[in-house]
Amino acid sequence: MRAASDAVPARPACYLLGMRAMLLPAPARIEARPLQLAERPIPAPGAGEILIRVEACGVCRTDLHVVEGDLDRRRADLVPGHEVVGRVVGCGPGTSRFAPGARVGVAWLHRACGVCRFCTRGAENLCLSPRFTGWDADGGYAEYLVAPEAFVYALADGVPARDLAPLLCAGIIGYRAFARSEAQPGDRIGLFGFGGSAHLVIQIARSRGCEVYVMSREPLHRELARSLGAAWVGGSFDPPPHPLAAAILFAPAGDLVLPALAALDRGGTLAVAGIHLSGIPSLDYERHRFQERTLRSVTANTRADGEALLRLGIEIPLRTHTVAYPLEAANDALADLRNDRIRGAAVLEIWDGRS
Ligand SMILES: [Zn+2]
Ligand SMILES: [Zn+2]
Repeated sequence: MRAASDAVPARPACYLLGMRAMLLPAPARIEARPLQLAERPIPAPGAGEILIRVEACGVCRTDLHVVEGDLDRRRADLVPGHEVVGRVVGCGPGTSRFAPGARVGVAWLHRACGVCRFCTRGAENLCLSPRFTGWDADGGYAEYLVAPEAFVYALADGVPARDLAPLLCAGIIGYRAFARSEAQPGDRIGLFGFGGSAHLVIQIARSRGCEVYVMSREPLHRELARSLGAAWVGGSFDPPPHPLAAAILFAPAGDLVLPALAALDRGGTLAVAGIHLSGIPSLDYERHRFQERTLRSVTANTRADGEALLRLGIEIPLRTHTVAYPLEAANDALADLRNDRIRGAAVLEIWDGRS
């Protein structure tokens, strides 16, 4: 029997250094509210890492794929979230890039190995042993997270965190998808699905003089597309009125690959932006691939993509349309995303940067 003086305290000592986080004990459909609010120790930054207090974290469709188990489970009690805006509050051994108080962003690519045959040729998005934020490593659905300083982005002060958060994945992956579509200035480009990423890509495309055709079944998304200057807006399976030089598929629906390929002009390219896609029905060579139509995927991003997108965000400038939720409403934000109820991008607002 324990002596009274040995009594286990009602709360562990780490409570004093605790933080709130939304944990994923096990994947489940979002209706079952799989994320649970929990208290966890504030993580300690290791060598080369910084500790970041999270101001806001965007809610991306990839989070939904992680939470619902469409993507393999990498570990238990994960904290999702990979569109993180915050402030540096701690620096691990060997760090020098950021001073405490600096504003930074953490994106999907948490780290790449730096030595494999892809990293060494500048294609770290294809790294053979990468780690991803909010999948392999704890992400930003929490008050704090740690990240390697070499993979963190410097962000501007003076902009609300919720306006910056969607740039960290919706923006960066959208930028890479736009590049992979090979759309040239003045081209007609089609966007299939119009969520957080597409609402930024339309702004990039229009800044290059492209004419943008949007295919979406959701009235809310169609209205946003029109307000952002789409030349034409139709339903998901409606053929656009002109052949498209390029197209990007954002919706995770494999059955849209066929109409998207059929909508391409000769020599056109379709880039699939998502990390997960439902089954693609069988292709008809004549209708979908002949005349040198190209089908490509988009896999993660390099740091160069991230830096380029953040520069563009200032130059154009990109304007994000967001819907804000508190941290503890992450299940609601993901359910709204799944049910196409978000106009633009959902963001968890976690810290106002003052208290
Ligand atoms: Zn590598
Ligand atoms: Zn994402």
